[in-house]
Parts: sequence; C-alpha cells; structure tokens
Amino acid sequence: MNISHHLSDDTLQEYTAGALDPSLEVVIACHLTYCTSCRNRADMLDVTVGALLDTEQPTAVRTTALELIQKAQSLGEEQAQAEPPVSDVPRPLGRLLPAPLESLAWKRLAPGIKQYNLSNRHRKYGAFKLLHLAPGVVLSQHTHKDKELTLVLRGSYQDEIGRFKAGDVADLGDDVVHQPVVDTQEPCIALIATQSPVQFSGVMGKLMQPFVGF
Ligand SMILES: [Zn+2]
Repeated sequence: MNISHHLSDDTLQEYTAGALDPSLEVVIACHLTYCTSCRNRADMLDVTVGALLDTEQPTAVRTTALELIQKAQSLGEEQAQAEPPVSDVPRPLGRLLPAPLESLAWKRLAPGIKQYNLSNRHRKYGAFKLLHLAPGVVLSQHTHKDKELTLVLRGSYQDEIGRFKAGDVADLGDDVVHQPVVDTQEPCIALIATQSPVQFSGVMGKLMQPFVGF
C-alpha cells in the first residue's frame, strides 16, 4: 500500500509511552497495520523511550510501552495471516464492528454524511466514529482544541493539507483549520478519533456542530 500521510513523532511517542486515549490507540494500531514506515519509527522510539524509562522508573511503564508495540505488530501480522472478524478493515477496527462497513447501521447526519458511532461517551470528551461521506461532500471548515486522528479506509478526500486515500492518516493538532472535500466518485469512509470536540467556524458550521459533533 502506497502511504503518503503518516503519524507525527509526537503521536508515536505518546503511543509508545501508553499516554493516549484508547480510541486514538485504535486509529494508530490500524494505521500501523498498513504502514511499515510508521511501524519502524515506533520501534525506534520504543528503544529510546525504553532507555529513558530504564534509568528512571524500571519495569512497569517500560512493559506497557513494549507491549503496545508488540500488540500493534502482532495485529499487523495477524491481519496478514488470518481472516479478521470483519474482513474489509484492519483487525483492530474489525473486532469492534458487528458487520462489514457497508452493512453497518449508519445514521444520517446531513445530506451525503452518515456516521457510525464507536463510543457512547458524551461528545464533549471527544469522538470515536466512522464517517461515510458521499462523492462531492464538503465538510464544514473546522479546527480542534486538541488532537484529531483520521484514517481513510475507502475512497479519498482533499483538504488544505493534501490528498488522503486509503491507509493515509491525518494527524492534526490544534493549529490546523481544514475543510475536507470528497474528491472521487467513490464514497469516502474514514475512522476518526478526537480528544475534544471540533470548533466549527462560520454560521453553517455552528449549525452543523450539534449534528456532526466530531
Ligand atoms: Zn505511516
């Protein structure tokens, strides 16, 4: 798979230290099943983090970091070898889904926009969901208070940062304002996790916020 957009060093560092929300960890583990380059970087970071932790605080945290990496790697290997429960997505996501992507109980949010929620926590704590966007859909311009990870599973979209297709991950901090547009005739399905809700700009965006809320 030809991946153009990767996880940032900061994100991989937090991941190897076990410091991220579990929903963000799922998105990262899914990207790692696609991406050898990020897997190798995570390995190298783990050596560094491990060495630092070894001098300060022995086994407990060190084990967590190592376990996370090993888990992600074994998920990647299992993905290659065994048939996952839902076979059209990476295994860390597939085991959270009751059915293949197109058969899920998608909820319509707006014309051309459907979502499947993977978490029932209040949206003020962030989101963990799949979005299904029809060709030509333009999302409201928005930014985030905190980290947002988006992994494209099907189709593609473009925004101010670039073009994102299957396997690509958008690893966005709070300094990015963007407006994704689905740019092919195929629906775009993406897995999204945030640590806090988005901040929509503009009147339409503010109207949309209660509905989209990611
Ligand atoms: Zn990558």
